[in-house]
Amino acid sequence: MSDNLFQTFLDRFPADKSKTFLVERDGTERSFAWLIDQTGRYAAVLASHGVIKGDRVAAQVDKSSDVLALYLACLQLGAIHLPLNTAYTGDEIAYFLGDAAPRVFVCRPANIDIAQELGGKNNVGTVLSLGSAGDGSLNDQAQNVTPLIDVVDANKDDVAAILYTSGTTGRSKGAMLTHNNLGSNAKTLHSAWGFKPGDTLLHALPLFHTHGLFVAINIMLMNGGKVILLPKFDADDVIERLPQSTVLMGVPTFYTRLLAHPQFTKDVTANMRLFVSGSAPLLAETHDAFFERTGHKILERYGMTETCMNTSNPLDGERRPGAVGPTLPGTEARVCDKDGKVLGAGEIGVLEVRGPNVFKGYWQMPEKTASEFRSDGFFITGDLATIGEDGYITIVGRDKDLIISGGFNVYPKEVEEIIADYDEVDEVAIFGLPHPDFGEAVAGVIVPANGSTPDTDAIIKRTQDKLAKFKVPKRIWILDELPRNTMGKIQKAQLRKAYEDTFATGPK
Ligand code: AMP
Repeated sequence: MSDNLFQTFLDRFPADKSKTFLVERDGTERSFAWLIDQTGRYAAVLASHGVIKGDRVAAQVDKSSDVLALYLACLQLGAIHLPLNTAYTGDEIAYFLGDAAPRVFVCRPANIDIAQELGGKNNVGTVLSLGSAGDGSLNDQAQNVTPLIDVVDANKDDVAAILYTSGTTGRSKGAMLTHNNLGSNAKTLHSAWGFKPGDTLLHALPLFHTHGLFVAINIMLMNGGKVILLPKFDADDVIERLPQSTVLMGVPTFYTRLLAHPQFTKDVTANMRLFVSGSAPLLAETHDAFFERTGHKILERYGMTETCMNTSNPLDGERRPGAVGPTLPGTEARVCDKDGKVLGAGEIGVLEVRGPNVFKGYWQMPEKTASEFRSDGFFITGDLATIGEDGYITIVGRDKDLIISGGFNVYPKEVEEIIADYDEVDEVAIFGLPHPDFGEAVAGVIVPANGSTPDTDAIIKRTQDKLAKFKVPKRIWILDELPRNTMGKIQKAQLRKAYEDTFATGPK
């Protein structure tokens, strides 16, 4: 029996293929029959350009229902889907094409000239285009083919997708995810979060990242629909469609933006059964404010490109603000020191995980892969965490964001939670800067709450009641907004760079 993930989805589609799988922003409905036909057409086009099992098909395209058919067409052929962030520039694309050597690269119609030039320089077989309005050469060619019906056999350990990590330092790495990594995780989440055929997922995430594609879409393909697909997050759009939806998956900024919207009331969430958050830490303060406004407790989960989802607060049971819950069924986790010694309950160390969800390795980087796995198969996530006696896991930050000031560890999250609580502060990010005496000094930026003009020295002073001296920020700056990537992650490397010389000649 084939372990091809597309076959798994097909087996779970409703018997009546005229049922709606997806509704677009303009109200266009797409049935399962449409999805199967469009997938088969794209598969036929890709095959006509020589794509066979194991070939990479890279795509940098705007979000649309066609993008899902392209993903499924790769699976159908046993090829490897390689979605690329739409924000990547020409130089970045050149690196990914050179590294992954895709047989086909699909770009936006407007980028066709530059894509062809980059493709030519990087041994890409064919460059096609795909627009979000049904345009582009892939669609033109798809009209003149007979849709493929057969699904290529795949083993569970065959690679289904490569996702490049966001990699703020060093080279971005291609995480190879197998049919079983994606399939087992989607099944686990489908069951853990209680999905039923009547659910409608409101989708406002990108389709090039694990959250929007492998969590949200794979679950709904397992569930047999139904998805409301928005091109991007827009609070007005989301609020308008919440009454027709039952589940929303978002990054924390979705929730802070909804809370800032005057029309976001308890009433508009009355039909909803579940709000999920992940990809970046959800402040306990946001969790609490959301509960107060809507009566819903956001369910926070934790995962990463390399591992799919590892932990989740429970559907039934305590959804603990600031924690990411226990491990999902089938996944194991432990907290270790740098040498791999397992630490006790409540101790902070690096989180390591093992399970069917954990990726096969980095594309063409065997040494890097080996250095990030322990000999017993645990993957070293690089996230600092604690595991409580009750199994609940708390992420305290990325290993590389840890600040060491005067030899003491400062976990940015601890300082951030205190400052975020102040009325005059909307958002805060804490980071370390080079300091001649302390090695690193704690510093931060804040975004003021609506209409307030905070006194940063007064804020620093106030933290002194709650924090040991070495944790108290030495400088805080005010910004209009925090630098974030498309997944809502604060770009701390960028902040460290912007302020790196502050203490270079001694404390100011
Ligand atoms: P990505 O590979 O882009 O999905 O990023 C994964 C990283 O996002 C993880 O290693 C964590 O650092 C962070 N992350 C994801 N979910 C959470 C969460 N619920 N709380 C804190 N950090 C998270």
